[in-house]
Amino acid sequence: MTAPNSATEARLAIEGGSPVRETFLPYHKPFLGAEEEASILDSMRSGWLTTGPKTKAFESAIAEYVGAKHCVALNSCTAALHLGLEAVGVGPGDEVITSPLTFASTANVIVHRGATPVFADVEPDTFNLDANAFAAAITPRTKAVIPVHLFGQACDMDAIDATARKHGIAVIEDAAHAIGTEYRGRRIGGSGNLTAFSFYATKNITTGGEGGALTTNDAALAERLAIMSLHGISKDAWKRYSASGYKHWDIVYPGYKYNMFDLQAAIGLPQLEKIERFWDRRLELKARLDAGLRQIAELAFPAERDYGKHAHHLYPIVIRTEDLGVDRDAIMDAIQKENVGIGIHFRAVHLHPYYVEQWGFRRGMFPHSEYYSDRTLSLPLYPKMTDRDADDVVRVVQKVLEAYRKKA
Ligand SMILES: *Cc1c(COP(=O)(O)O)cnc(C)c1O
Repeated sequence: MTAPNSATEARLAIEGGSPVRETFLPYHKPFLGAEEEASILDSMRSGWLTTGPKTKAFESAIAEYVGAKHCVALNSCTAALHLGLEAVGVGPGDEVITSPLTFASTANVIVHRGATPVFADVEPDTFNLDANAFAAAITPRTKAVIPVHLFGQACDMDAIDATARKHGIAVIEDAAHAIGTEYRGRRIGGSGNLTAFSFYATKNITTGGEGGALTTNDAALAERLAIMSLHGISKDAWKRYSASGYKHWDIVYPGYKYNMFDLQAAIGLPQLEKIERFWDRRLELKARLDAGLRQIAELAFPAERDYGKHAHHLYPIVIRTEDLGVDRDAIMDAIQKENVGIGIHFRAVHLHPYYVEQWGFRRGMFPHSEYYSDRTLSLPLYPKMTDRDADDVVRVVQKVLEAYRKKA
C-alpha cells in the first residue's frame, strides 16, 4: 500500500490532523443540466403540472428502454413494490421472501400488505439473494419473492424464476439499483416479471428527487396498476379536464395516490437520454477507484458475475475489520472527517429493532448478510465526480486504513 499523500499530514483528521480534502465531497450529487431545466420550464409554461403528456411519454420511454410491453410511472419505488404485491394478490396470511441486504421499503411493503416478511440469505460473494436459500425458505404460504438486484448487478434470475415457477410464486424484482442492468442478453425489467425501479435523487437516473415505475408484459395487470396508482378511479382519469369536456369518473377499486406527475417526468425524460453516457463515466471512475483500492489487503469487493452488464450504481467495499482492530463505524467516521461522504448499503433489515421485536429475527440467522452488514460502506461513485475526486477518495481510504493498520 502506498503512503498517504506527502502533502497531507499522516495524522487522521479525526485525531486533529489536516484532512486530505479541503472541501467535502458529498456522497452523491445528481447530474442535472440545461436539458432538464428546459424540459421543466416547458411543463411549467404549458400549465400541465400533474400526471399528463410527459408522464405518458416517460412511461413509453422506460418501457422501450428496458424492453417491457408496459410501464406505469409512480411516485417512488416503494409505491411500485407495494402496488406490485397488491397486484399479485399478496395479503394477510401470505409470506413474501426477500434478502436482508436491502433498503427498508423492500421489507416494509410486505408488512403494509398485512403479509409476513421472510428473509433468505445472500450469496457470500455477490451479496445478492441466494437462489438455494430462497428455495429453502419456501412454505405452502409463500406467495411472492422480491429479488433485489443489489449495487446494480442482476440476481441469478434463471434459477430464481425457475424455482418460483415450480411453486407458483410471483416474482417482483426490486430494480432500484438496476436501470440499465442486463442479465443474459436482456435488460432487467423486460423479463415479464413485475419490476420496480427507483428514480430517487441518488439513483442512476432521477426524476428530480423522487420517482419510480413498475414494468410488466401483462396488459391487464398494467391497466389495473394504472388505476390503483390513482385512487382506483376509472381509466385515463387524468384526462378528465380535457378540451373534449368534463367526464365523470368511477371508483372501481380502493386505490392509492401513487401517480408520477409531469414535473417529475420532465426531468426523467432527458435523464434517460443520458443514461449510457452516465454509465460510461461510472465505469471510468470505477476503474480509477479499483486501481487504487483493489490492492489494499484489508478490503474485499463484491464479486462480479459475467452474465451481463452491471449498472455500477454503488461502489461498495467490505472492510475486513478482523484484520484491523477497529469496527466499520470508526472507519466510516474517520473517512468522513477527511472530507469524503459515504453511504451504507445496507445494514441487514432483519437486525433493525422493528423486525427483531415484532417478527423475532435475531443475529445468527443470516450469516452472509450479517458479515457484510457489519463491514460494508459505499464510496462516492457518480458521473459528476472528477478524476481528482476519485483520486482523493483513494487517498483518503489509504490514509485511514494505514493509520488503523499501525494500531492493530
Ligand atoms: C432506493 C431503494 C428503494 C426505494 O426507492 P424509493 O424510490 O426511494 O422508494 C427500494 N429498494 C432499494 C434496494 C433501494 O435502494
